[in-house]
Amino acid sequence: SREDVHYFGAGPAPLPTAVLEEASKVLLNYNDSGIGITEISHRSADANAILAHTQSGLRQLLDIPESDGPDGYQILFLQGGGSGEFSAVVYHMVSIWVARKAKELGGDEDKLREEVKKMKLDYLVTGSWSLKASQEAARLAGAEHVNIVTDSRKHRDGKFGTIASPDTYTPTADTDATALTYYCDNETVDGVEFQAAPDGANLVADMSSNFLSRPVDVRKHAAIFGGAQKNIGTTGITIAIVSNRILPPHTPMADAGLLRKLGLPVGPVVLDWPTIAKNNSLYNTLPIFDVWIAGQVMQKLLDASTGSPRIATQQSESDRKAATLYAELDGSDAYHVVPDNSVRSRMNLCFRVRGGDAEAEKAFLKGAESRGLLGLKGHRSVGGIRCSNYNAVPVSAVEKLAKYMKEFAEGKI
Ligand code: PMP
Repeated sequence: SREDVHYFGAGPAPLPTAVLEEASKVLLNYNDSGIGITEISHRSADANAILAHTQSGLRQLLDIPESDGPDGYQILFLQGGGSGEFSAVVYHMVSIWVARKAKELGGDEDKLREEVKKMKLDYLVTGSWSLKASQEAARLAGAEHVNIVTDSRKHRDGKFGTIASPDTYTPTADTDATALTYYCDNETVDGVEFQAAPDGANLVADMSSNFLSRPVDVRKHAAIFGGAQKNIGTTGITIAIVSNRILPPHTPMADAGLLRKLGLPVGPVVLDWPTIAKNNSLYNTLPIFDVWIAGQVMQKLLDASTGSPRIATQQSESDRKAATLYAELDGSDAYHVVPDNSVRSRMNLCFRVRGGDAEAEKAFLKGAESRGLLGLKGHRSVGGIRCSNYNAVPVSAVEKLAKYMKEFAEGKI
Protein backbone atom coordinates (compact mmCIF):
# COMPACT_ATOMS: atom_id res chain seq x y z
CA SER A 1 0.00 0.00 0.00
CA ARG A 2 0.95 3.67 -0.18
CA GLU A 3 2.10 3.58 3.46
CA ASP A 4 4.57 0.79 2.72
CA VAL A 5 6.61 2.58 0.09
CA HIS A 6 8.65 5.71 -0.40
CA TYR A 7 8.88 7.00 -3.93
CA PHE A 8 11.84 8.97 -5.27
CA GLY A 9 10.83 9.15 -8.95
CA ALA A 10 12.03 12.09 -11.05
CA GLY A 11 8.64 13.08 -12.44
CA PRO A 12 5.82 12.34 -12.31
CA ALA A 13 6.66 12.48 -8.66
CA PRO A 14 4.99 11.98 -5.29
CA LEU A 15 2.15 14.24 -4.23
CA PRO A 16 1.04 14.87 -0.64
CA THR A 17 -1.28 12.02 0.35
CA ALA A 18 -3.80 14.44 1.87
CA VAL A 19 -4.12 16.20 -1.50
CA LEU A 20 -4.73 12.90 -3.29
CA GLU A 21 -7.32 11.87 -0.72
CA GLU A 22 -9.20 15.09 -1.27
CA ALA A 23 -8.72 14.69 -5.04
CA SER A 24 -10.40 11.31 -4.98
CA LYS A 25 -13.45 12.94 -3.41
CA VAL A 26 -13.67 15.90 -5.78
CA LEU A 27 -13.31 13.58 -8.77
CA LEU A 28 -16.75 12.26 -7.87
CA ASN A 29 -18.41 15.35 -6.50
CA TYR A 30 -16.95 18.83 -6.64
CA ASN A 31 -18.17 21.39 -4.15
CA ASP A 32 -21.32 19.36 -3.49
CA SER A 33 -22.53 20.00 -7.02
CA GLY A 34 -22.99 16.31 -7.78
CA ILE A 35 -20.59 16.75 -10.70
CA GLY A 36 -16.95 15.66 -10.64
CA ILE A 37 -14.14 18.16 -11.06
CA THR A 38 -13.03 16.72 -14.41
CA GLU A 39 -16.60 17.06 -15.66
CA ILE A 40 -17.24 20.73 -14.88
CA SER A 41 -16.86 23.37 -17.56
CA HIS A 42 -13.55 25.17 -17.63
CA ARG A 43 -15.62 28.36 -17.98
CA SER A 44 -17.82 27.76 -14.92
CA ALA A 45 -17.69 29.91 -11.80
CA ASP A 46 -16.15 26.97 -9.92
CA ALA A 47 -13.38 26.63 -12.50
CA ASN A 48 -12.68 30.35 -12.39
CA ALA A 49 -12.42 30.24 -8.62
CA ILE A 50 -9.95 27.32 -8.84
CA LEU A 51 -7.85 29.19 -11.37
CA ALA A 52 -7.80 32.36 -9.24
CA HIS A 53 -6.91 30.36 -6.11
CA THR A 54 -3.93 28.65 -7.75
CA GLN A 55 -2.68 31.87 -9.32
CA SER A 56 -2.93 33.66 -6.02
CA GLY A 57 -1.06 30.85 -4.21
CA LEU A 58 1.81 30.99 -6.68
CA ARG A 59 1.89 34.79 -6.58
CA GLN A 60 2.31 34.76 -2.82
CA LEU A 61 4.81 31.92 -2.74
CA LEU A 62 7.17 33.39 -5.31
CA ASP A 63 6.39 37.04 -4.58
CA ILE A 64 5.30 37.64 -8.17
CA PRO A 65 4.53 41.32 -8.82
CA GLU A 66 0.90 41.94 -9.66
CA SER A 67 0.04 44.97 -11.77
CA ASP A 68 -1.18 45.79 -15.25
CA GLY A 69 1.87 47.99 -15.71
CA PRO A 70 5.23 46.92 -17.12
CA ASP A 71 6.47 45.73 -13.72
CA GLY A 72 3.69 43.15 -13.34
CA TYR A 73 3.83 39.47 -14.31
CA GLN A 74 1.14 37.18 -15.67
CA ILE A 75 0.70 33.60 -14.47
CA LEU A 76 -0.26 31.33 -17.33
CA PHE A 77 -1.32 27.69 -17.46
CA LEU A 78 -0.52 25.90 -20.68
CA GLN A 79 -0.36 22.38 -22.05
CA GLY A 80 2.45 20.74 -23.96
CA GLY A 81 4.73 20.26 -20.96
CA GLY A 82 8.13 21.78 -20.39
CA SER A 83 9.02 20.65 -23.91
CA GLY A 84 6.17 22.72 -25.34
CA GLU A 85 7.69 25.75 -23.66
CA PHE A 86 11.08 25.06 -25.29
CA SER A 87 9.25 26.01 -28.49
CA ALA A 88 6.98 28.71 -27.03
CA VAL A 89 9.98 30.59 -25.70
CA VAL A 90 11.55 30.77 -29.15
CA TYR A 91 8.37 31.79 -30.98
CA HIS A 92 7.63 34.51 -28.51
CA MET A 93 11.04 36.01 -27.87
CA VAL A 94 11.85 36.08 -31.59
CA SER A 95 8.52 37.71 -32.36
CA ILE A 96 8.97 40.55 -29.89
CA TRP A 97 12.59 41.06 -30.90
CA VAL A 98 11.58 41.41 -34.56
CA ALA A 99 8.68 43.72 -33.72
CA ARG A 100 10.92 46.00 -31.67
CA LYS A 101 13.51 46.14 -34.44
CA ALA A 102 10.86 46.74 -37.10
CA LYS A 103 9.52 49.65 -35.06
CA GLU A 104 13.00 51.12 -34.55
CA LEU A 105 13.67 50.91 -38.28
CA GLY A 106 10.35 52.51 -39.18
CA GLY A 107 9.25 49.55 -41.31
CA ASP A 108 12.33 49.47 -43.61
CA GLU A 109 12.28 45.76 -44.48
CA ASP A 110 15.68 45.61 -46.16
CA LYS A 111 17.35 47.05 -43.09
CA LEU A 112 15.28 44.74 -40.90
CA ARG A 113 16.45 41.75 -42.89
CA GLU A 114 20.07 42.81 -42.25
CA GLU A 115 19.41 43.26 -38.53
CA VAL A 116 17.68 39.89 -38.25
CA LYS A 117 20.88 38.21 -39.47
CA LYS A 118 22.50 39.44 -36.24
CA MET A 119 19.72 38.22 -33.92
CA LYS A 120 20.93 35.71 -31.33
CA LEU A 121 19.30 33.33 -28.90
CA ASP A 122 21.76 32.76 -26.05
CA TYR A 123 21.66 29.34 -24.36
CA LEU A 124 23.49 28.17 -21.25
CA VAL A 125 23.82 24.44 -21.82
CA THR A 126 24.39 22.86 -18.43
CA GLY A 127 22.62 19.53 -18.88
CA SER A 128 20.35 17.38 -21.00
CA TRP A 129 17.28 19.63 -20.74
CA SER A 130 18.93 22.92 -21.63
CA LEU A 131 20.66 21.04 -24.44
CA LYS A 132 17.28 19.92 -25.74
CA ALA A 133 15.90 23.45 -25.44
CA SER A 134 18.86 24.83 -27.43
CA GLN A 135 18.34 22.16 -30.09
CA GLU A 136 14.70 23.17 -30.41
CA ALA A 137 15.78 26.80 -30.82
CA ALA A 138 18.17 25.77 -33.60
CA ARG A 139 15.45 23.67 -35.26
CA LEU A 140 12.91 26.50 -35.20
CA ALA A 141 14.97 29.64 -35.71
CA GLY A 142 18.06 28.20 -37.43
CA ALA A 143 21.35 27.15 -35.85
CA GLU A 144 22.96 30.39 -37.03
CA HIS A 145 20.84 32.27 -34.52
CA VAL A 146 21.77 30.12 -31.52
CA ASN A 147 24.76 31.13 -29.43
CA ILE A 148 25.92 28.60 -26.85
CA VAL A 149 27.07 30.79 -23.98
CA THR A 150 28.49 27.83 -22.09
CA ASP A 151 28.52 24.08 -22.65
CA SER A 152 29.32 22.32 -19.40
CA ARG A 153 30.58 19.24 -21.23
CA LYS A 154 33.58 21.21 -22.48
CA HIS A 155 34.63 21.76 -18.90
CA ARG A 156 34.32 18.15 -17.79
CA ASP A 157 35.51 15.37 -20.11
CA GLY A 158 32.59 15.70 -22.50
CA LYS A 159 29.99 14.96 -19.83
CA PHE A 160 27.53 17.10 -17.93
CA GLY A 161 28.01 17.55 -14.20
CA THR A 162 29.34 21.05 -13.69
CA ILE A 163 28.39 24.68 -14.24
CA ALA A 164 31.41 26.63 -15.37
CA SER A 165 32.36 29.97 -13.89
CA PRO A 166 30.60 32.94 -15.52
CA ASP A 167 33.96 34.39 -16.58
CA THR A 168 34.23 31.57 -19.12
CA TYR A 169 30.81 32.42 -20.64
CA THR A 170 30.56 33.84 -24.14
CA PRO A 171 27.29 35.77 -24.26
CA THR A 172 26.42 37.68 -27.41
CA ALA A 173 28.45 40.88 -27.11
CA ASP A 174 25.68 43.08 -28.47
CA THR A 175 22.88 42.75 -25.92
CA ASP A 176 20.61 44.57 -28.35
CA ALA A 177 20.90 41.54 -30.66
CA THR A 178 20.09 39.10 -27.85
CA ALA A 179 16.49 37.95 -28.16
CA LEU A 180 16.80 35.80 -25.05
CA THR A 181 19.19 34.28 -22.55
CA TYR A 182 18.05 30.83 -21.56
CA TYR A 183 19.03 28.58 -18.67
CA CYS A 184 17.67 25.53 -16.86
CA ASP A 185 17.75 26.20 -13.12
CA ASN A 186 17.90 22.53 -12.18
CA GLU A 187 18.97 19.79 -14.56
CA THR A 188 16.86 16.77 -13.69
CA VAL A 189 18.92 14.16 -15.54
CA ASP A 190 22.39 15.40 -14.65
CA GLY A 191 21.78 16.60 -11.09
CA VAL A 192 23.19 20.12 -11.32
CA GLU A 193 21.47 23.23 -10.01
CA PHE A 194 22.32 26.91 -10.31
CA GLN A 195 23.13 28.50 -6.97
CA ALA A 196 21.67 31.80 -8.19
CA ALA A 197 20.13 33.04 -11.42
CA PRO A 198 22.78 33.87 -14.03
CA ASP A 199 22.93 37.27 -15.72
CA GLY A 200 21.74 37.83 -19.24
CA ALA A 201 19.53 39.96 -21.45
CA ASN A 202 15.89 38.84 -21.61
CA LEU A 203 16.44 36.04 -19.14
CA VAL A 204 14.22 32.94 -19.43
CA ALA A 205 14.39 30.05 -16.96
CA ASP A 206 13.19 26.46 -16.97
CA MET A 207 12.31 25.65 -13.35
CA SER A 208 10.47 22.40 -14.05
CA SER A 209 12.34 20.41 -11.45
CA ASN A 210 12.98 22.91 -8.65
CA PHE A 211 9.89 25.14 -8.77
CA LEU A 212 8.70 26.07 -5.27
CA SER A 213 11.72 24.61 -3.54
CA ARG A 214 13.29 28.00 -2.79
CA PRO A 215 12.59 31.71 -3.28
CA VAL A 216 13.12 33.02 -6.81
CA ASP A 217 14.21 36.45 -8.00
CA VAL A 218 11.27 36.72 -10.39
CA ARG A 219 12.00 40.34 -11.29
CA LYS A 220 15.30 39.35 -12.84
CA HIS A 221 13.48 37.24 -15.44
CA ALA A 222 11.51 37.98 -18.58
CA ALA A 223 9.84 34.59 -18.14
CA ILE A 224 10.00 31.46 -16.00
CA PHE A 225 8.29 28.21 -16.86
CA GLY A 226 7.98 24.67 -15.62
CA GLY A 227 5.91 21.53 -15.94
CA ALA A 228 3.78 20.87 -12.86
CA GLN A 229 4.54 17.16 -12.48
CA LYS A 230 7.42 17.35 -10.02
CA ASN A 231 7.03 19.81 -7.14
CA ILE A 232 3.67 21.30 -8.04
CA GLY A 233 1.15 18.74 -9.15
CA THR A 234 0.01 16.38 -11.85
CA THR A 235 1.18 15.99 -15.43
CA GLY A 236 -1.01 18.04 -17.73
CA ILE A 237 -0.29 21.68 -17.02
CA THR A 238 2.75 23.82 -17.48
CA ILE A 239 3.08 27.08 -15.62
CA ALA A 240 4.61 30.18 -17.16
CA ILE A 241 5.31 33.40 -15.29
CA VAL A 242 5.65 36.08 -17.93
CA SER A 243 6.68 39.71 -17.48
CA ASN A 244 4.24 42.30 -18.78
CA ARG A 245 7.26 43.97 -20.38
CA ILE A 246 7.31 41.21 -23.00
CA LEU A 247 3.55 41.11 -23.51
CA PRO A 248 1.27 43.49 -25.40
CA PRO A 249 0.41 46.30 -24.85
CA HIS A 250 3.87 46.92 -23.32
CA THR A 251 5.69 45.45 -26.30
CA PRO A 252 4.69 45.11 -29.95
CA MET A 253 4.39 41.64 -31.53
CA ALA A 254 5.43 40.82 -35.06
CA ASP A 255 2.57 39.59 -37.19
CA ALA A 256 2.73 36.18 -38.79
CA GLY A 257 3.13 37.63 -42.28
CA LEU A 258 6.27 39.57 -41.36
CA LEU A 259 7.85 36.59 -39.59
CA ARG A 260 7.14 34.35 -42.57
CA LYS A 261 8.67 36.91 -44.94
CA LEU A 262 11.81 36.95 -42.80
CA GLY A 263 11.98 33.16 -42.77
CA LEU A 264 11.31 33.07 -39.01
CA PRO A 265 8.97 30.66 -37.26
CA VAL A 266 5.31 31.28 -36.48
CA GLY A 267 4.08 29.26 -33.53
CA PRO A 268 0.80 27.49 -32.88
CA VAL A 269 -1.75 29.62 -31.10
CA VAL A 270 -2.02 27.26 -28.09
CA LEU A 271 1.60 28.05 -27.24
CA ASP A 272 1.20 31.78 -27.78
CA TRP A 273 1.78 33.55 -24.46
CA PRO A 274 -0.12 36.75 -25.40
CA THR A 275 -3.16 34.73 -26.49
CA ILE A 276 -3.12 32.63 -23.33
CA ALA A 277 -2.60 35.74 -21.17
CA LYS A 278 -5.41 37.64 -22.85
CA ASN A 279 -7.79 34.75 -22.18
CA ASN A 280 -6.64 34.17 -18.58
CA SER A 281 -5.42 30.68 -19.62
CA LEU A 282 -8.88 29.76 -20.94
CA TYR A 283 -8.22 30.15 -24.65
CA ASN A 284 -8.95 26.45 -25.01
CA THR A 285 -10.05 23.71 -22.62
CA LEU A 286 -7.80 23.83 -19.59
CA PRO A 287 -7.50 20.71 -17.39
CA ILE A 288 -8.97 22.35 -14.31
CA PHE A 289 -8.34 19.26 -12.18
CA ASP A 290 -4.59 19.74 -12.65
CA VAL A 291 -4.92 23.41 -11.74
CA TRP A 292 -6.90 22.41 -8.63
CA ILE A 293 -4.19 19.92 -7.56
CA ALA A 294 -1.51 22.58 -8.00
CA GLY A 295 -3.60 24.98 -5.91
CA GLN A 296 -3.93 22.42 -3.11
CA VAL A 297 -0.20 21.72 -3.12
CA MET A 298 0.51 25.46 -2.97
CA GLN A 299 -2.00 25.90 -0.15
CA LYS A 300 0.12 23.55 1.93
CA LEU A 301 3.07 25.89 1.49
CA LEU A 302 1.07 28.79 2.89
CA ASP A 303 0.83 29.13 6.65
CA ALA A 304 -2.50 27.62 7.72
CA SER A 305 -3.39 30.43 10.12
CA THR A 306 -1.74 33.51 8.64
CA GLY A 307 -1.69 32.54 4.95
CA SER A 308 1.88 33.80 4.68
CA PRO A 309 4.22 31.96 2.32
CA ARG A 310 6.50 29.32 3.83
CA ILE A 311 8.87 29.07 0.90
CA ALA A 312 11.94 29.74 3.06
CA THR A 313 10.82 26.88 5.33
CA GLN A 314 10.46 24.63 2.30
CA GLN A 315 13.93 25.67 1.18
CA SER A 316 15.50 24.72 4.51
CA GLU A 317 13.65 21.41 4.51
CA SER A 318 14.83 20.64 0.96
CA ASP A 319 18.38 21.65 1.89
CA ARG A 320 18.34 19.52 5.01
CA LYS A 321 16.97 16.44 3.24
CA ALA A 322 19.56 16.77 0.48
CA ALA A 323 22.36 17.31 3.02
CA THR A 324 21.36 14.13 4.88
CA LEU A 325 21.65 12.07 1.70
CA TYR A 326 24.83 13.72 0.41
CA ALA A 327 26.47 13.17 3.82
CA GLU A 328 25.78 9.47 3.50
CA LEU A 329 27.08 9.37 -0.08
CA ASP A 330 30.22 11.36 0.75
CA GLY A 331 30.83 9.31 3.85
CA SER A 332 31.47 6.03 2.07
CA ASP A 333 33.83 4.80 -0.66
CA ALA A 334 30.95 2.72 -1.97
CA TYR A 335 29.45 5.80 -3.61
CA HIS A 336 30.46 8.75 -5.65
CA VAL A 337 28.28 11.68 -6.50
CA VAL A 338 28.40 12.40 -10.23
CA PRO A 339 28.25 16.23 -10.42
CA ASP A 340 30.75 18.65 -8.94
CA ASN A 341 30.30 19.46 -5.30
CA SER A 342 29.55 23.17 -5.76
CA VAL A 343 26.61 22.67 -8.13
CA ARG A 344 24.97 19.53 -6.77
CA SER A 345 21.22 19.59 -7.09
CA ARG A 346 19.08 19.51 -3.96
CA MET A 347 16.29 17.98 -6.04
CA ASN A 348 17.92 15.22 -8.11
CA LEU A 349 20.86 13.47 -6.47
CA CYS A 350 22.82 11.54 -9.10
CA PHE A 351 25.39 9.02 -7.95
CA ARG A 352 27.16 5.79 -8.83
CA VAL A 353 27.65 2.70 -6.70
CA ARG A 354 31.07 1.03 -6.51
CA GLY A 355 32.50 2.97 -9.42
CA GLY A 356 29.44 2.35 -11.57
CA ASP A 357 29.71 -1.44 -11.40
CA ALA A 358 26.57 -2.74 -13.09
CA GLU A 359 26.04 -5.63 -10.67
CA ALA A 360 26.53 -3.44 -7.62
CA GLU A 361 24.06 -0.87 -8.91
CA LYS A 362 21.54 -3.59 -9.67
CA ALA A 363 21.98 -4.95 -6.15
CA PHE A 364 21.57 -1.46 -4.69
CA LEU A 365 18.28 -0.97 -6.54
CA LYS A 366 17.03 -4.43 -5.67
CA GLY A 367 17.81 -3.97 -1.98
CA ALA A 368 16.13 -0.58 -2.02
CA GLU A 369 13.02 -1.98 -3.66
CA SER A 370 12.76 -4.75 -1.13
CA ARG A 371 12.58 -2.02 1.54
CA GLY A 372 9.92 -0.09 -0.33
CA LEU A 373 12.37 2.57 -1.56
CA LEU A 374 11.25 3.05 -5.16
CA GLY A 375 12.04 5.12 -8.25
CA LEU A 376 15.80 5.30 -7.74
CA LYS A 377 17.04 4.20 -11.16
CA GLY A 378 19.05 6.88 -12.99
CA HIS A 379 17.83 8.33 -16.28
CA ARG A 380 18.30 5.86 -19.11
CA SER A 381 20.66 8.23 -20.92
CA VAL A 382 23.21 8.36 -18.09
CA GLY A 383 22.56 5.27 -15.95
CA GLY A 384 23.53 5.05 -12.29
CA ILE A 385 21.24 6.00 -9.45
CA ARG A 386 19.11 9.11 -9.09
CA CYS A 387 17.22 10.03 -5.97
CA SER A 388 14.67 12.77 -6.51
CA ASN A 389 14.11 14.78 -3.38
CA TYR A 390 11.04 16.80 -4.29
CA ASN A 391 8.91 18.72 -1.82
CA ALA A 392 6.45 15.89 -1.19
CA VAL A 393 9.19 13.41 -0.26
CA PRO A 394 8.91 13.29 3.54
CA VAL A 395 11.88 13.60 5.88
CA SER A 396 11.09 10.09 7.12
CA ALA A 397 11.57 8.71 3.59
CA VAL A 398 14.95 10.41 3.29
CA GLU A 399 16.01 9.06 6.68
CA LYS A 400 15.01 5.56 5.67
CA LEU A 401 16.95 5.86 2.42
CA ALA A 402 20.00 7.25 4.22
CA LYS A 403 19.92 4.30 6.62
CA TYR A 404 19.67 1.89 3.73
CA MET A 405 22.61 3.58 1.98
CA LYS A 406 24.72 3.15 5.09
CA GLU A 407 23.84 -0.53 5.48
CA PHE A 408 24.46 -1.23 1.83
CA ALA A 409 27.85 0.51 1.97
CA GLU A 410 28.82 -1.53 5.02
CA GLY A 411 27.97 -4.71 3.16
CA LYS A 412 25.10 -5.55 5.48
CA ILE A 413 22.69 -6.03 2.61
N1 PMP B 1 12.75 20.62 -18.32
C1 PMP B 1 13.16 19.88 -17.27
C2 PMP B 1 14.15 20.46 -16.33
C3 PMP B 1 12.64 18.59 -17.08
O1 PMP B 1 13.05 17.85 -16.05
C4 PMP B 1 11.71 18.08 -18.01
C5 PMP B 1 11.09 16.71 -17.87
N2 PMP B 1 11.54 15.91 -16.93
C6 PMP B 1 11.35 18.88 -19.09
C7 PMP B 1 11.87 20.15 -19.21
C8 PMP B 1 10.39 18.39 -20.13
O2 PMP B 1 9.16 18.38 -19.57
P1 PMP B 1 7.90 17.61 -20.24
O3 PMP B 1 8.18 16.16 -20.14
O4 PMP B 1 6.78 18.08 -19.37
O5 PMP B 1 7.79 18.10 -21.63
